[in-house]
Amino acid sequence: MAAKVIARRSRLHGLGLFAARDLEAGIRLIEYKGVRYPKGELPDLIDDGFTRFLRLSDGSGIDGTGWAALANHGCDPNCELAEEEGSEPPRAYLYTLRPVKQGEELTWDYRLDVASHSEAYSDYACACGTEVCRGTMADPEQFPPAADKAGRG
Ligand SMILES: [Zn+2]
Repeated sequence: MAAKVIARRSRLHGLGLFAARDLEAGIRLIEYKGVRYPKGELPDLIDDGFTRFLRLSDGSGIDGTGWAALANHGCDPNCELAEEEGSEPPRAYLYTLRPVKQGEELTWDYRLDVASHSEAYSDYACACGTEVCRGTMADPEQFPPAADKAGRG
């Protein structure tokens, strides 16, 4: 079967992942692979503008080095990163959330866990350009938009 994703330069940030062909919703694309860190031994990388680090439900983490780690953040994503049920240790995969056209960039909502509101909107600012862009890659529930930025709608 033909590859589902390709990597190339993104207008969002660095390299990105793109659909190599038309994809339906709910398709499993690729696994989020990298260096695994056990629970309680996660490196202190989050403070370093570091957005490839994935925390898993069991408290362990992956420093993403594979293709999945190339996927950029989007506030109106066409993909999601989800753990496979029952996998031990947890394995996370990128899935399409909706139909995606060939050549479209694949994004997912990072929902980063960051330390402060100002950090969320400076160090982890988002410029995805979508209608619903909230201005940060951080978790929107933890860091809602600042009042002076919530002008839309
Ligand atoms: Zn955005």
